[in-house]
Formats: sequence, C-alpha cells, structure tokens
Amino acid sequence: KLDIARMIADPQATTRNIVERGIEFDINQVITLAQLREEERRAERNVLDMRTEHGLQSHVYRDKHRKREKKNERMEARQLKVALKDEETRLRNITQRVADAASALPNWSHPDAPRGGEDKAVLLEQFGPRPMADDENRSHLRITETFHWLNSSASAVSTGTSWPFLMGAAAMLEHALTGYAMSKAIKAGYMPVATPDVVSTDIAQRCGFQPRDGENGPRQTYNIESHLPPNEDGTPQAPHLCLAGTAEIPLAALWANRQLVRASMPAKTVGVGRAFRAEAGARGLDTRGLYRVHQFTKVELFCVTSADAGESDRMMEEIRELQKDIAMGLGLSVRVLDMPTEELGASAARKYDMEAWMPGRAKWGEITSTSNCTDYQSRRLHIRYRDAVGEPLQFAHTLNGTAAAIPRLIIALLENGARLDGNGIVTGIDLPKTLKPYWIGPEVEQAEE
Ligand code: AMP
Repeated sequence: KLDIARMIADPQATTRNIVERGIEFDINQVITLAQLREEERRAERNVLDMRTEHGLQSHVYRDKHRKREKKNERMEARQLKVALKDEETRLRNITQRVADAASALPNWSHPDAPRGGEDKAVLLEQFGPRPMADDENRSHLRITETFHWLNSSASAVSTGTSWPFLMGAAAMLEHALTGYAMSKAIKAGYMPVATPDVVSTDIAQRCGFQPRDGENGPRQTYNIESHLPPNEDGTPQAPHLCLAGTAEIPLAALWANRQLVRASMPAKTVGVGRAFRAEAGARGLDTRGLYRVHQFTKVELFCVTSADAGESDRMMEEIRELQKDIAMGLGLSVRVLDMPTEELGASAARKYDMEAWMPGRAKWGEITSTSNCTDYQSRRLHIRYRDAVGEPLQFAHTLNGTAAAIPRLIIALLENGARLDGNGIVTGIDLPKTLKPYWIGPEVEQAEE
C-alpha cells in the first residue's frame, strides 16, 4: 500500500521532496498511470452495474416471454461475465504498473533533516577522548601486515580483493566485538534474532534497496540464480533471491504482514548478519584493507514503533544513546552527524551517522548509521498495528541502526590502540578492557587492566 494518494493530491510537494533528495523519479508517469487505473475502475463498476440491472430486468419479463428471454438472458450473462473478467485483468495489470512505478518513490524527508548534499551534514555531538594526531604508522593496513592479521593472498585465490580473511587476533576481535554489541543491545531490551543472510529480492526492494540496475545507479545486491526449474506456465518456482546487504532486511521481513497491538510496541530486535555489498563504483581509494569490503559482519538493531507523533523520533534518540554507549565503551573518539536529504537513500526520513576518528587513515570514518524510515517500509511490507481491540489498523513506523559494523570498528581500535616504539614501529595493540569478557583465546593483545 504505497502512499500514492498523497503524491497525486500534492504533486508540487512530491517534486520538491524528490529534488531535495537528489533522486531521479518521473512523478508524471505515476500520475498518468493512476488516472488510467481510475478509468479502469469506473469501467469495471459499469459492467457490474449492467450485470445487476440485467438481473432485475430478466426477473420482470420472465413470465411473459419465458423461452426467448431465457435464451437472451443466458447470452447476455455470458457476455457480461467475459467483459467483467477482461476488466478485472486490465485493472490488475494497471494496478501492478502503478505500484511498480511508484515503488521507487523515496520516503518523505523529516522536516528537521538538513536539506542538500553531503556538505550540509549537521554536527550534533562529539564525544570520547580528543582525536589523536594522525600518523601513517598507525594505518590498519600496516598493522595488519605487521601481525599477519589480513591474508590477502588467500582472498585473491578464493574470491578476490575486498573479500577479507581475518586471521588470529583480528578474527577473535570480530567475535569479541559481536558478543559485546549483542550483550549491550540485549541489556537495552532488544530481542536477539538469528537471521538468514539470504532474502528474496522482492523483500529487499520493499525495504528500499535496489536489487536491479536502475535509474539511480547499479544494483546493490548479489543476486542468486535459482536452482529450481520454472513451473509449467513459466512462473518461477521459488522467489528470486539475493544475499542480504544488511540484517535490516530479514529483521524487517520478520514483521511483514503482521498486525501488532499497541501494547507490544515498540518492538526491538537485534540480529547478527553477514552483510554483502556489491559496492559497484563506490570503492574509490578503499580497495585495500577493511574499510570497504564486499562481505562483513554487522550487529543490527531494528525497531517497530507506533505512528504516534514523535514516537519514532524518540526511538531514534534511544538508538543513538545505545550506539553512544557501545562506542564509549570502546574508548573511541566519535562525532554524530544529522545527514542531509541527498544522503537519505530511498527509505529514511531522517538519518544519523556516527564517525570514529581513524588516525592511520587521517580521517573520520563512518561506523554506524541510523534511519527512521517512518511508514515507508511498513506500507510496502504491510506492518500494521491497532491501538486497542476494535480500533482501526494503522501503518507502523520502522527504524534500523548499526550496533557494530565489525571491520570499521577493527580499524578504529587498531589505529587508536597501536603501541608505537621510538621508531614508529607498532609493538602491540591496547584494546579496551570492556572486550575482555567476550575474548576467547590468547590474551597477548589485550591491554593490562
Ligand atoms: P549502511 O547499512 O550502509 O548504513 O551501513 C552500516 C554501517 O556498515 C556503516 O555505517 C559502516 O560502518 C558499515 N559499512 C557499510 N558499508 C561497508 C563496507 N562495504 N565495508 C565495511 N563496512 C561497511
């Protein structure tokens, strides 16, 4: 159930929203198709009216001209049946075309989201220790090479660059960070969910991802060829599948087609997923190391709230507090940005990004992203709720946020925690003691308490 009525009622506001978000979208095409659909609906109603009238007339004349009327009656009924079937098919086709055209429409931006491109991001807050001076000796590329924590020759043989093998302590760090972030989320009331990493492209699209090459860029997902032959009529036997770009997608699917009760909201879930990113054309300088890879582990938060004024806004602040708690526990220097409209993607009404200082890269690097998707995903996934029994169904609001994107956290921890000797050689890494309970294996790299 897309919000097409609002778009048709106020095409100017729709166009402004699209322009502000820097998205290519043909609003006139949707409006024309929606008008055609209205005509089809009228045509179908006419046929239905004719059928009703026909029924009444045949009753009046039945006794007088019984035989002839009966024959005519049957013929007319048959013709009307065929006409109705045709109308129904036409209406179904046009409804599908309206939905297809409108599905690429972005969400409405939150009134408080900064307008414009990346440079319009607003700094909301900075926390943690003062960022240390940049130093290329702290580069995670150098550190992982020194300690043999990234095996690029294995990557080259198995899948290719940017499909990293984390070795030894770096692999343990992935487990420790995952356990640490999960435990923080569970303590904050999130229900843990073990999600599949494969989802249908339909669900990915309904969540606002692009599983096919489109007007707004190349596809974002790795699609999976079905091993099942099609049905006899040519329709696919199984849904078209892709590797999930984020656990947000299966976590959203968990609530699809459900009717919640207000008392059970907000519903908060946390999942660990392998995120698969095609990253076509987006990798630039980051073809080496861990900053931008094709597969990474991520702990993801997903919440469903009511549509009451301000409720999803409050949830967004609650997610931000949890993310801050996680980052503070790791001793990172972090800044929080309110992202501008051109950075919101399709589904977010508002987005906060957290960036950690990475002295070896001499840059701030994004470590979390939080989106308030308002009713954008719930309309596409049919996530609804009632205030109480007997009250009408309403579309819920959904939010997602990163609890821990492992490779970026590893970079931040290695680059900030590196112990250097007088010659700038890394001799060890000081890791935050908060990770200790989640660390399995030799403790050589752990900081002394
Ligand atoms: P996103 O779902 O794109 O908002 O990403 C969530 C978080 O995952 C980001 O804030 C980054 O920290 C991290 N991330 C995104 N893309 C990649 C990638 N290709 N490689 C490593 N980490 C990534």
